[in-house]
Amino acid sequence: DLAPVRRALLSVSDKTGLVDLGKALAKRDVELLSTGGSARTLRDAGLDVKDVAEVTGFPEMMDGRVKTLHPMVHGGLLALRDNDDHVAAMDEHGIGDIDLLVVNLYPFEETVARGADYDTCIENIDIGGPAMIRAAAKNHAFVNVVVDVEDYEALLAELDANDGQTTYAFRQKLALNAYARTGAYDAAVSGWMAKALGETAPRRRAVAGELAQTLRYGENPHQAAAFYTDGSARPGVATARQMQGKELSYNNINDTDAAFELVSEFAASDGPACAIIKHANPCGVARADTLKEAYMRAFDCDRTSAFGGIIALNQPLDAATAEEIAGIFTEVVIAPGADEAAMAIFAQKKNLRLLTTDGLADPAEAALMLKQVSGGYLVQDKDSGQVSADDLKVVTKRAPSDQEMADMLFAWKVAKHVKSNAIVYVNNGATVGVGAGQMSRVDSCLIAARKAEDMAAELGLSAPLTQGSVVASDAFFPFPDGLLTAAEAGATAVIQPGGSMRDDEVIAAADKAGLAMVLTGMRHFRH
Ligand code: 5GP
Repeated sequence: DLAPVRRALLSVSDKTGLVDLGKALAKRDVELLSTGGSARTLRDAGLDVKDVAEVTGFPEMMDGRVKTLHPMVHGGLLALRDNDDHVAAMDEHGIGDIDLLVVNLYPFEETVARGADYDTCIENIDIGGPAMIRAAAKNHAFVNVVVDVEDYEALLAELDANDGQTTYAFRQKLALNAYARTGAYDAAVSGWMAKALGETAPRRRAVAGELAQTLRYGENPHQAAAFYTDGSARPGVATARQMQGKELSYNNINDTDAAFELVSEFAASDGPACAIIKHANPCGVARADTLKEAYMRAFDCDRTSAFGGIIALNQPLDAATAEEIAGIFTEVVIAPGADEAAMAIFAQKKNLRLLTTDGLADPAEAALMLKQVSGGYLVQDKDSGQVSADDLKVVTKRAPSDQEMADMLFAWKVAKHVKSNAIVYVNNGATVGVGAGQMSRVDSCLIAARKAEDMAAELGLSAPLTQGSVVASDAFFPFPDGLLTAAEAGATAVIQPGGSMRDDEVIAAADKAGLAMVLTGMRHFRH
């Protein structure tokens, strides 16, 4: 199953490592063919290269749209070396074997990412490259296809280990990777077109991903798992730099994403904010004058749950906050930066993972969310819904105070990031009770209130902080019971979407209890 490498075609947009590879191949007596720019680069380095134009007898034309699309190239890639008819055809037409194809494609994804116009994106769709990659990959019985600069070294090692040949298993792996590359490439093109045309539901959809990390296991140790990135430059868990700590686990990545997306709701210019996540739900979110205080207030929402949690900050980590965080067991901290003093403190906690990002994510940015179901996946716009004070409709006799209004808007932002049914009590810029993921809204109200009672006992307070709080509900109250539970816990104002058949009953109950209530007209289910 060994196949020799005697003739190679190199055609790359990203010229990284090209000269070194060319030299290494020449040293191993491999003949080099190449296209315009790649050939120039190799020749400038003193290498002997044959132009593909010389092999095809056609010049590269139409701005490079047609360079390698020719039987002299594709025949050399596709011919079965052990098939008499194929060999005869090669002889008849003077087609030479191409045993190794090294191609990386026009940078379509990067062109889109830098916001290029429509025509520029179109011009950056590589045609000949993917055609050759697919041909070479199909013929992996004989041909090697390398599409990633990071595979150059492995290729040379393979050649050296096998006396200038490669094994079948090696070529199979290259082919697998090659088809994933062309698949992802076309997925990027069609995804870009769907976006450009405003098509949320094209008849076909392709999804691309690049392996970022093989994970030790998935949600549970008996599940194999891996982390793939989609090329987005959005600040977040996929693009963050890990400054220290153990490798991230599947659950760490999931929870860190939830934490960072939540804290990104709070612009850095509006002051420090902190979110603590456990099992993808917030167990404490707070704002304060300092980052340390924001963390401490978030921690005081539910100290028990915060143990082993994931912390996201909306400002660079400073020493005072780092010192405080280091006091208890935390899995991950993610922040838009960390100063040196903070890093020195964390360095004492070897296992603590610290991730830094370039700024916060834009919560209003349009994006698609995929959710897998058996036999397919659901696609929807990311929930980038936002409400401001002007969007709210006061429906009770009593209007909310300024403080209640500020807290309701805060609670509403948090509720968007809590699994339904979501109930969030907030007192003075900090959550004081979170009820998440219950099948009944009343249960979420009760659980959140009980959490506040537990914390009051732990902190030695005379009353739970739900006294004088506001409450947010991610969807309408179908009956007055949930609202009355919140009133009993001491909430004085309520923010909820409205829209229930029994809104009148719910509003009457709110008036009777002396509550102020506002309707958002927008729901934040999250499952
Ligand atoms: P070079 O810089 O060598 O002139 O061009 C290299 C790039 O051209 C590679 O990204 C390769 O995939 C691409 N390429 C090779 N052949 C063709 C072709 O026939 N048509 C198009 N559009 N691109 C090609």
